[in-house]
Amino acid sequence: MISSWPVLLGVTFTPVTLTGIYLASTICFVLALKALSSPRHARRGNLIGVAGMVIAVGLTFADQRIGHDWIIGVGMVIGAAIGIPAARKVRMTAMPQMVAAFNGVGGGAAALVSLVEFLHDVPAGVSPDKVVEIIFGLVIGCLSLSGSALAFAKLQELMTGRPITYPSQQMVNGGAGIAVVALGVVTIALPNLGTLAAMAIISLFLGASVVLPVGGADTPVLISLLNSFTGLAVAADGFVLDNLVLIVAGTLVGASGALLTKMMSDAMGRSLPNIVFGGFKPAVATTAGGGVAGDSRSVRSSDAADIGTLLAYSRKVMIVPGYGLAVAQAQHVIAELAKTLEDRGVEVAYAIHPVAGRMPGHMNVLLAEADVPYESLIEMDHANPQFPTTDVALVVGANDVVNPAARDLPGSPIYGMPILNVDQAGAVVFLKRSMRPGFAGIDNELLYDPKTVMLFGDAKESLTKLVASVKAA
Ligand code: NDP
Repeated sequence: MISSWPVLLGVTFTPVTLTGIYLASTICFVLALKALSSPRHARRGNLIGVAGMVIAVGLTFADQRIGHDWIIGVGMVIGAAIGIPAARKVRMTAMPQMVAAFNGVGGGAAALVSLVEFLHDVPAGVSPDKVVEIIFGLVIGCLSLSGSALAFAKLQELMTGRPITYPSQQMVNGGAGIAVVALGVVTIALPNLGTLAAMAIISLFLGASVVLPVGGADTPVLISLLNSFTGLAVAADGFVLDNLVLIVAGTLVGASGALLTKMMSDAMGRSLPNIVFGGFKPAVATTAGGGVAGDSRSVRSSDAADIGTLLAYSRKVMIVPGYGLAVAQAQHVIAELAKTLEDRGVEVAYAIHPVAGRMPGHMNVLLAEADVPYESLIEMDHANPQFPTTDVALVVGANDVVNPAARDLPGSPIYGMPILNVDQAGAVVFLKRSMRPGFAGIDNELLYDPKTVMLFGDAKESLTKLVASVKAA
């Protein structure tokens, strides 16, 4: 029982005041998500989200029902010491694995909170509905922790990124799922640490086991799904702790993660069950040099001088950026090339595929860094009708998102994924270093098409040469 509530700046932090301020924090999170939905307002959205989080964390110290201030303080210092340098140093192309790592520790924290509450409450007697909340937070948190850890290891190339399968894998996973449910029923009827701990261990196994057969381009989609799971585990902890801000913030993460997962799988032309249970199978073996094994097809390549002239005398050029643009960090040079062409009267726009790069919005963020106006970025549905009237499609470090196999080749692993129809432009220029395939490991027929010209080399170097040759044309 707390006899006196803390007073700060003339405000007495009673439970009613605290709930009011928690509500303000949750409103910040909703407004942040709204602003984050457009690149124009994304920066503001981030700041509003930070404000909401500062309020929520600050209140944790003011809320005397929580206590343990010094333990929370130590946790924050350790977390900040690891998180801040990691977030500052991370390359944008490595964002998916960083999200996986942060998401995993979020799930682990949610599971630990559930466990601690269980140990705290059980001796005094705990109601079945609270046990259900605790089990939910623990199981989902454990799934998310081990699944995210394995996804991180795959994307960071600490292990193979390819699907790992073994006989009866789905049956083993199904059996583990049934065991968790059965142990859950026993724990609700007879709360005890033994069955709870067994559930946690099987959930940890299940999380890793579900991620094992997922590989290639599907891994980031799974990370988004696990992110949604962590949100739900946090929301369950909110019920356990009777904490409004955790319930709302966890639900928002859960819902937005689920929506993002749906949008990503739609953009890749896959259903979620197909991603989780399908096992992605790259189809084509490539040679060490990057070409397709046993391939004798001819490829047309040219130099920057000729391609610069082609661009300079075009009426309309559509730039298609992809992952390689981010790797080469060539966003400023590409903006310079676009400006140089526009100064000559060439119409230039950027066609943006929703899963170009390695995370949703990757190309938008990259090009925004180079101050490319938002109006010049055309989403796929609006860009595709423009290709038949485009003279040159300039594909810079993109591959899968323009691969006609996704449209024309039933049986291809990426069949059904919507693509940018660059093959409908008058000419196609690819800027890449070799004939190697993209993330999905799929051969791209368009590279061998008579209307395609390759400019081999690092995108930044090639674009720099193109700027010079357009200026000289
Ligand atoms: P891809 O991975 O298909 O192709 C990238 C190309 O860039 C490669 O062919 C590579 O060829 C080239 N490249 C790499 N580095 C350089 C460089 N320094 N200079 C020039 N070229 C370079 O990328 P896309 O953007 O077309 O497609 C994205 C893929 O990622 C899709 O398969 C998508 O499904 C997947 N994905 C995307 C997600 C997202 O949210 N954006 C999430 C999940 C998956 P080379 O080695 O010959 O240079």
